Amino acid sequence: MTDSTEHNLADQLHRFLFDADNVRGELVQLGPSFSAMIANHDYPPAVAELLGELLAATSLFTALLKFEGEVTVQLQGDGPVRLMVVNGDHRQQFRGVARISNPPGELTGLRALLGTGYLVITVSPTDGERYQGVVALDEESIAACLERYFSQSEQLPTSIWLFARASAPARAAGLLLQRMPVSASEQDDRGLEHLVLLTTTLKAEELLDLPAITVLHRLYHQEQINLFSPQPLTFVCGCSRKKSANALISLGRDDCEALLAERGEICIHCEYCNSNYRFTDADIEPLFGSGTRHGPH
Ligand SMILES: [Zn+2]
Repeated sequence: MTDSTEHNLADQLHRFLFDADNVRGELVQLGPSFSAMIANHDYPPAVAELLGELLAATSLFTALLKFEGEVTVQLQGDGPVRLMVVNGDHRQQFRGVARISNPPGELTGLRALLGTGYLVITVSPTDGERYQGVVALDEESIAACLERYFSQSEQLPTSIWLFARASAPARAAGLLLQRMPVSASEQDDRGLEHLVLLTTTLKAEELLDLPAITVLHRLYHQEQINLFSPQPLTFVCGCSRKKSANALISLGRDDCEALLAERGEICIHCEYCNSNYRFTDADIEPLFGSGTRHGPH
């Protein structure tokens, strides 16, 4: 069940079809969810913007799944940013984080920030085997890396546009066009090529700031487009005090007591949302039930 109490027009994913051309499309726009993801992290703007592009990309990728499950899209490299990861699921609930090893200064863009490395997509169906796809980070953008992933791994011609702006109001957005899987005899990419040509006129500020319907009308008003109801998208970290307590229980009583003796308290930090869960002696004791090891109590 999707909790859509925080209904916001900006945090939505739109799916559409060009039936005549065997092409599917997706358009995602992120406002508050992207702001929440970068809040309290002090990312340099270029890093936040790359994370916004990765968030939009993960949303587009997740929306293509035909089953329930989770997707993790990870960039790993030897540059100032050594890891950037966004994790999401079929309910369009996302979290993401960037790990910076050196201040990137004025550097911007995928190649400069990540250096040499890989984009790794991990798909974990709720029922079924997890699988992974890897492409080298030797394109200029996340969009270009993903396009290559689709042409290599799925043999589906795909075009992707990603934009993000870190300054307030922070926004990220993405658009995807992909030929539907069809039999070899039906393969004809002229429809897709025409739609891609129309879409390359799209400007960052249009996709970031205009209502999705306006963007689609501007681009495709001469095409026959079949638009489905939008799906809300949310930033959900998923961490909690209870989950942290469960992690401590699996760590075991001895290790917890050793940590407490060393530091006076155990602090579990969530990288994704910067929450801290603090546990003192009085919190730890009840986790392990009444069977104390230090004699009667
Ligand atoms: Zn968290």
